[in-house]
Amino acid sequence: MTHEQKIQAMTNIMTRFTGYTGKYLPDDIIAKLRKLREQEDTYLAKVVYDSMFENQELAAKLDRPCCQDTGVIQYYVKAGSEFPLLANIQDILHNAVLGATQTAPLRHNAVEIFKEKNTGNNTGERVPIIDWEIVPASKSTEIEVYMAGGGCSLLGQGRTLMPSAGYEGIVEYVFDVMTSMGLNACPPLLVGIGIAGSIEVAARLSKKALFRPIGTRHHDPRGAEMERLLENGLNEVGIGPQGLSGKNSVTGVHIESAARHPSTISVAISVGCWAHRRGTIRINEDMTYEIISHKEVTL
Ligand code: SF4
Repeated sequence: MTHEQKIQAMTNIMTRFTGYTGKYLPDDIIAKLRKLREQEDTYLAKVVYDSMFENQELAAKLDRPCCQDTGVIQYYVKAGSEFPLLANIQDILHNAVLGATQTAPLRHNAVEIFKEKNTGNNTGERVPIIDWEIVPASKSTEIEVYMAGGGCSLLGQGRTLMPSAGYEGIVEYVFDVMTSMGLNACPPLLVGIGIAGSIEVAARLSKKALFRPIGTRHHDPRGAEMERLLENGLNEVGIGPQGLSGKNSVTGVHIESAARHPSTISVAISVGCWAHRRGTIRINEDMTYEIISHKEVTL
């Protein structure tokens, strides 16, 4: 394959995978929703979960996005330093969004700041959003596709606390945000929390936390325990599916952290809704690929 042919091949893969992500929820989210449905004992909560599953079936049958809000497209890229298309990834992802907007199709969700004009093709200034990590000595590239819907993004919040606020301050802030705004984002919610020494680092980590598979825990046992306690506590609030009350409020709580300045502790929150459109794909140097988030899928 020539370099140009590889560019074309990866553009096709990412166009199809971006569209696919809008139609099929990842395996771990589906499994978690099924588990939460089993725990409910009221007719209302069960029926809301059932409507979510019916929605998934219809999206597959009709080949349509599973929520009308297909979000702003965000890509989180772990690029191998020896991946042959390293210099082309940005253009490839831009073109993949243009293609998927037409073929999936995706709703037009890119409004230029100050012009206040929808571009009509899901691209715009710095959109699609691309977050980079370089993986040394690797020839493959792993890409997370995420559809950041309006309801979920509305909940995104952050604050830098005095260090004396401590971890109790973080818990208080998380509960304040979730109980005052959680209903905006179609629960049950996956809650991503970033903890760091400054707000922009915490915000980025809070979004990255949404890409961890459900059921994984923070690498530090104390972080893992905090995730468990927050998850239990938020579930006790009983927000339930679509906010109509139930035994659970969240599909999970994930914390990502970075070492902080001694004088500050910043916390940020991002959430994913029940329709958490996240897809993970690994592309190899020969343009073969593996879809990690959805098993046994060929595009
Ligand atoms: S919060 Fe999620 S499910 Fe609800 S409208 Fe937005 S994208 Fe769709």
